[in-house]
Amino acid sequence: MSEKTKPLYGGRHSAVLEHPDHVRGINHGTMTITAIAELAPSVTRLTATLNHEGDPERWFVTNPAIRLELPDHESEDTVSRVYTVRAVRQNKHAIEIDVDVVRHPGQSVVMSWLKTLEIGDSTRILGPRAHFTPYNEQQLPLGIFADETAIPAVATIIRDMPTTRKAEIWVETPDSAVVTDLPQHPGVTLHWLQRSISEAPASTGRLVDAATEFSEKTEGQLSVWACGEHGEMKRIRDHFRKDRGLPREQVVVFGYWRKLVTSSEIDEQRLQRYEKELAVNPSMTVLDEFEESE
Ligand SMILES: Cc1cc2nc3c(=O)[nH]c(=O)nc-3n(C[C@H](O)[C@H](O)[C@H](O)COP(=O)(O)OP(=O)(O)OC[C@H]3O[C@@H](n4cnc5c(N)ncnc54)[C@H](O)[C@@H]3O)c2cc1C
Repeated sequence: MSEKTKPLYGGRHSAVLEHPDHVRGINHGTMTITAIAELAPSVTRLTATLNHEGDPERWFVTNPAIRLELPDHESEDTVSRVYTVRAVRQNKHAIEIDVDVVRHPGQSVVMSWLKTLEIGDSTRILGPRAHFTPYNEQQLPLGIFADETAIPAVATIIRDMPTTRKAEIWVETPDSAVVTDLPQHPGVTLHWLQRSISEAPASTGRLVDAATEFSEKTEGQLSVWACGEHGEMKRIRDHFRKDRGLPREQVVVFGYWRKLVTSSEIDEQRLQRYEKELAVNPSMTVLDEFEESE
């Protein structure tokens, strides 16, 4: 694939995305759209085949994430956005993936791209990289809290969880079809936190309430996995780390998007913080987005 020698991203975000720490061990490729389906009123499912340089096994891990290279809707630049590989299938000829894209209010890179996307279109991708999974040691009671952007990740976590594992999972989405589409698991109790169409994403506080209720009813040590809007995730993370005093490795919480901030801005801020933290702690390997050294 000759494209792998070219820089993947142009424009002002290239410094972030081509930073050596960012691209270490990461593969390049393209995905070609083979189907575009409305899974639910708020979710478009993209199916694509891959032309990819890396080890195929890397697609079959729990919670794989990819970066899509997309045209910026406001400039000539290309920018990137991170999505979860909701499902992966391999046949004799190619690997095929599903990516579930949440449609959200307002103008954005991804929303503009979706409007013109057609079967046969190809998009350059970076990855996959295994994103965070729940702490699974000691069979601790596991609570999972996800808004609609993290439901694809939850699907892979349920899919790969041992049948003897138990978990309580809360998902917030306006669409029942997304909830019923999740894999079945004998140890999972699934709670749908329904949001009405008139309520904005990350406006209800229901995930935060569910997390504190789970905390109050469950004694002793816990394992927590939560992904969604940054502000809500910070409240969940602060409850379990500060109020409840759980160790860092048991509280896996990550902001997938942030109200009124674009992903490009988040990437730039994260790189600046990463470099600042690395100067304080040169052996750091994972940046905790909610904790900053003085
Ligand atoms: C590891 C990881 C995995 C992810 N997996 C998925 C996935 O499988 N499916 C998925 O849909 N998303 C997923 N996301 C979230 C997705 O990358 C962001 O929602 C991204 O901001 C969308 O890009 P955009 O161009 O639409 O919006 P941006 O240009 O980034 O933002 C423009 C505006 O839209 C707002 N916005 C962005 N996303 C949302 C939203 N969901 N709801 C309401 N407002 C929003 C922003 O606050 C901003 O004001 C994932 C993120 C990460 C980090």
